[in-house]
Amino acid sequence: MDVLAAIAVSAVVLGIAYHYWRDLVMARAAGVYPYQRGGAMLSEAEARFLQTLKLAVPKRLLVCPKVRIADCVTVRKGLNRTTERLALTRAAVKNFDFAVVDEVTRQLVVVVELDDEPFVTRKARRREEFIAGACEAACIPIARFRAAQSYDANEVRTVLVSAINAAKVGNGEVPEPQGAVCPECNGALVLFVVQAGVLKGCSVWRCARRPACKGYVLNRTEPPHLHGV
Ligand SMILES: [Zn+2]
Repeated sequence: MDVLAAIAVSAVVLGIAYHYWRDLVMARAAGVYPYQRGGAMLSEAEARFLQTLKLAVPKRLLVCPKVRIADCVTVRKGLNRTTERLALTRAAVKNFDFAVVDEVTRQLVVVVELDDEPFVTRKARRREEFIAGACEAACIPIARFRAAQSYDANEVRTVLVSAINAAKVGNGEVPEPQGAVCPECNGALVLFVVQAGVLKGCSVWRCARRPACKGYVLNRTEPPHLHGV
């Protein structure tokens, strides 16, 4: 009986060892870069919607498809390492469908989600919940659209503006604007209310070194980017 048990244990151990050895050989054979070029970067529905989204925003706004959430948010300071790592990983493995970025200030203006169907699967619901929670926590405006055969640029713009208006401004702990430095020279900013043009009435944080430096950050509590388009 003991002999049989010993044989059985040896067989299991040998089986496991063989399994690891085979994996190792295959990994070696695949090389360091076992990659091949992927297929289309966007689904047909995403590509179709992107055409209208580009028309719905002013030229100075850049529409970036498939942006990692981790590229749009940072993790709050003061958390323990495990919580921080978990939060980072969760944000790193998920994408926003589109992120709309101001080319001049390089700031995120609004994120856009294109939903194919109601969130039927558990995975889809969890992704949707995570995105909603992350955006609310980070005060990022989010606009959602249902996939369709065609879209109206004016309607898309209206949804974007209301999403920006609806986003909560923050809890007061975050100074306005983010980081509170000039994007061009890292200098101080002063609040300025625009007197004319498409941004009339909107407040803008301008570089204190103006006119030597033309850097500025739009007040994120207002959607001036979409006025007068
Ligand atoms: Zn400056």
